Amino acid sequence: METKTVGIIGAGTMGAGIALVCTYGGHQVKLLDTSQAVLEKALQYMQSVLSKDVAKGKISEEQKAAILERVQFLSDMRLLADCDIVIEAVPERMELKTSIFSELTRVCREDALLLTNTSSFSITAIASGMPHPERILGFHFFNPAPVMPLVEVIRGKKSGEEQVQAAYRFARDLGKVPVLVTDTPGFIVNRIARPYYNEALRIVGDNTAEIGQIDRIMKLAGGFKMGPFELQDMIGIDVNFATTQSLYTDFFQEGRFKPSRIQQRMVQAGSLGRKTGEGFYDYSK
Ligand code: NAD
Repeated sequence: METKTVGIIGAGTMGAGIALVCTYGGHQVKLLDTSQAVLEKALQYMQSVLSKDVAKGKISEEQKAAILERVQFLSDMRLLADCDIVIEAVPERMELKTSIFSELTRVCREDALLLTNTSSFSITAIASGMPHPERILGFHFFNPAPVMPLVEVIRGKKSGEEQVQAAYRFARDLGKVPVLVTDTPGFIVNRIARPYYNEALRIVGDNTAEIGQIDRIMKLAGGFKMGPFELQDMIGIDVNFATTQSLYTDFFQEGRFKPSRIQQRMVQAGSLGRKTGEGFYDYSK
């Protein structure tokens, strides 16, 4: 496997996990965020996961040091000029993503793969009007990235076949299970997952059952590892709400994807789940 230089933009929940997957895979990583505090948190997260791997005997202390040494923490996008691959993992806001891609097309080599971890946006829309759109693809990891095996490789209308195959091989070489998907709203997993969240929110809105009951039932009867509310708290309620809004818009307001007022109010209140210490459950203690 060829060692690559991989840039990752956004060092939050997903970016930090993706960075760990890439450095574990032997690649040089440039992890970039506008917030110094987020970069420090990302480093602590990586150290803590790697220390656990040392304790479990999966890697040695020397390997842990080498894995960490391959990661640089940065805040200037111009430093991504030598990257073979860049993975964007900033919040799910279209104008933010397009401004990042616009900058990347100026900074990066023409043959660099420019990948977005978007949960729901059209890859074709992100690549629209960009020079060399054949290098822009979706590359959708799941949370937590180091644990979840699946990566959706999403082919936009102007993505190049060669680039799609290169992204597929890259995911496979990272030890992931890639699946090729056409650019449709929510791709596969987030489209299937919408009713899981939305119906659970409607059940609560109808006073049919309580949050804790629904989570327990889905685990006991449905065999799910996490209930819909535990999962929303882990993903981030803002992230989940933005994804549902995007699918609703892209499916031309089909009622089955209508976002929930309960989620909207929680986002407005800043109760975003685990990352803020409060969501459907209390994590302050
Ligand atoms: P997050 O809010 O945890 O992290 C985003 C990071 O991007 C923040 O640290 C922020 O400081 C940084 N950022 C914002 N603007 C920036 C800029 N201009 N340059 C550099 N960094 C910038 O978000 P997340 O949950 O990691 O989600 C990131 C993307 O991954 C979104 O598109 C989301 O839909 C997708 N995604 C999220 C999940 C999940 O479960 N959270 C799963 C799959 C995909």
